[in-house]
Amino acid sequence: MNLSNEKKHSKLAKILLNPIFLFLIVASSMWSVWDITKSESSEELLMKKANELAQKFIITDGHIDVPWRLHKGGYEDLSVRTPGGDFDFIRAKEGGLDVPFMSIYVPATYQETGGAKAMAEELIQSVEKITTDHPDKFEVAYNVADAERIVSEGKIALPMGMENGAPLEGDLSNVKYFHERGISYITLTHSEDNDICDSSYNLGERTHKGLSEFGAEVVKEMNKVGIMIDISHVSDDAFYQIMDVTEVPAIASHSSARHFTPGFERNMSDDMIKRLAENGGVIQINFGSSFVTKESQDKRSANSEKAKKYMNENNLTSDDQSAKDFARKVAEENPVFCDVIDVADHFDHVVNLVGIDHVGFGSDYDGVGDTLPYGLKDPSDFPNLIYHLLKRGYSEEDIEKICYKNVWRVWKATEEFAGSQS
Ligand SMILES: [Zn+2]
Repeated sequence: MNLSNEKKHSKLAKILLNPIFLFLIVASSMWSVWDITKSESSEELLMKKANELAQKFIITDGHIDVPWRLHKGGYEDLSVRTPGGDFDFIRAKEGGLDVPFMSIYVPATYQETGGAKAMAEELIQSVEKITTDHPDKFEVAYNVADAERIVSEGKIALPMGMENGAPLEGDLSNVKYFHERGISYITLTHSEDNDICDSSYNLGERTHKGLSEFGAEVVKEMNKVGIMIDISHVSDDAFYQIMDVTEVPAIASHSSARHFTPGFERNMSDDMIKRLAENGGVIQINFGSSFVTKESQDKRSANSEKAKKYMNENNLTSDDQSAKDFARKVAEENPVFCDVIDVADHFDHVVNLVGIDHVGFGSDYDGVGDTLPYGLKDPSDFPNLIYHLLKRGYSEEDIEKICYKNVWRVWKATEEFAGSQS
């Protein structure tokens, strides 16, 4: 080693052994370790908080398709964790879901064949059977006070909403009849125009250009009797006309913001959300991926095109097993799922438009098939959504409003208005 090299080395050694330098090295590595643990624990703390709030607040969900699931697939014991389907007692309790509205869904085909009222009756009886089979776990809620009491007893309250006004069968007296049977809201139509109003899914000639004369009478009668008006599924024209007729706030039991799915009339435009909020209404956000992002919607229609092509080429109907297998394979290879974060975006959007008082949950569990977002696959995942809302700065009070207070305000207003009429 020559002298100049030796000098360089001793200079380097001096720097490395300098206590200030050593301190900086150790301190900076400690800082980053501390920083990582700190950020990990704050995420964990937030998730813990989300879980606590999910259990503390009465989570109310505007739309769960359990009755139709039982009708199609056969009766199931919902008191245990079910292998299929989205909803059961165990998963609801895990996620803190207390008041899921059971959808009494009557398909539009019954408008043609008749028997809509009988079908509604059958579905109502299936909800009653859940409660009589497991009286320690479930009870039908006929009103807000019922829901509050049932939840306080540790049970899950099952209010009912009728999806499609077809079971009224053109007879106004059936509004009162279904109220007595426990129906708390009516979604005025479904996938086709009915005798009440036009459907957002009808892309052809609209029957009434909105709400029919009979439909206006139905809305007034629902106000009088105390059934909430649900505007999910109705056409835009029908929506505005309903808003002009109803004397109490309305709900959208399972609709999302059209802002994210341009042109999809089944979701609500910004202007409609504003109009709904103007008289105190609430939009309950649908979790189905194709309600949440345009990308999921496009993927879903591409998948169904492929399935349709396969059926045509092989002369199959959607009931054939090989058509079902093919559709499942396509769906597995091309997943349509968005993320719970995308669902949280809908809450932000509505809150930015009209404030915190007009938004809630309308999952559509058991109604949207295998299209539920990552992180929101069944009711046990409610805390994941609450976590993302907390992360975005929503306060406990905000979360409480979203969980139940907003929609309960409409439910109460509906009951009070009806009370003032009699
Ligand atoms: Zn629906």
